[in-house]
Amino acid sequence: MNQTFQQLRLDAVSRSFTNAEGQAVAALKGLDLDVRRGEFIALLGPSGCGKSTALNCIAGLNALTSGGIWLDDTRIDVLPPEKRGFGMVFQNYALFPHMSVLDNVGFGLRMRGVSAREISERARKALELVQLVGHERKLPGQLSGGQQQRVAIARAIVIEPPLVLMDEPLSNLDTKLRIEMRGEIRRIHGELERATIYVTHDQDEALSMADRIVVMREGAVQQIGTPREVYRRPSNLHVARFVGYRNVVSFELGAVVDARATLKSGASVLRGTTLEPLGPGRVSVAMRPDDFERCERGTADENGFDAVVETVEYGGRESLLRVRAPFGALFARIPGDAQVGETLSLRIAPDRVLVYPAEGA
Ligand code: ATP
Repeated sequence: MNQTFQQLRLDAVSRSFTNAEGQAVAALKGLDLDVRRGEFIALLGPSGCGKSTALNCIAGLNALTSGGIWLDDTRIDVLPPEKRGFGMVFQNYALFPHMSVLDNVGFGLRMRGVSAREISERARKALELVQLVGHERKLPGQLSGGQQQRVAIARAIVIEPPLVLMDEPLSNLDTKLRIEMRGEIRRIHGELERATIYVTHDQDEALSMADRIVVMREGAVQQIGTPREVYRRPSNLHVARFVGYRNVVSFELGAVVDARATLKSGASVLRGTTLEPLGPGRVSVAMRPDDFERCERGTADENGFDAVVETVEYGGRESLLRVRAPFGALFARIPGDAQVGETLSLRIAPDRVLVYPAEGA
């Protein structure tokens, strides 16, 4: 199945496992997903949310309990992994330690009975794409972690798969290399013009690499959207918290006009943004620490308030503060430094104050 495709479609894909007590545990609960040719999709969520299970169902390493997977008009969940022919890259590289880089990359082609000359040509081309020319004769153990992961990527793409599946491929690398490799993987994806599905629990990775992010929790999809949509308009409080809306505060909802809401807590009033119709009563309001601005005392107009600094986590260019605002405790990131006990004036734009149904309601 080495042809390209227009659409991969997961239709209500479910997968259960039997736990040690013999009970069925649902790892995936009715996953629907469309992936278009050329797209880079990130499956994002906390450990245990079912990301790897979803990837393994697509690859054919996990059978489905129910549902179906289609590549255009072909139903593929009934096919064994080798018939699907997708490229896979794992966290631990999974290279053959006693084979040279060139032989590792050519392995999949050898299994497919491709001639030695063509294997050598295609493997060299794949190594060019991952920028490892000159390392052909080395053993994996003679390469750095980042180089080994490039070999694993070359091995996955040399078979010219319609789809490349990656499961936390950068987790074993140090921070600097991880950030470098994000760009590299994106570049390789762009040159291949196929589709990539990329599993990660790291929101920065998903935001910086993906065309669309699928946010998962407990085996179900919480939101599918572009990085900007997920970051700025999380569909619910779970997603909001996961992408960094660390402040969740309870308010009373007042008037709502064109999604602009008046929020009250004691004598404090904030203006926020509703993402769905909400009735009057308690609501949960989410704000990112980095969306507060520090202003001159007494100049804050709309959405300004005074707050007393309780703790300072000094970070050089900026500091993370825990402050006491009139409506509760908050984390706020500000440029520079602040003193414990100091009173600051802070402000936050109304479209950065997101209003959700009250937690637990
Ligand atoms: P992580 O990032 O930790 O790998 P994940 O989001 O990829 O997490 P999965 O590995 O898909 O999550 O696991 C989802 C759920 O299914 C978990 O509760 C896990 O314990 C369970 N699970 C996964 N594989 C098996 C298995 N082979 N047998 C039993 N339970 C499993």
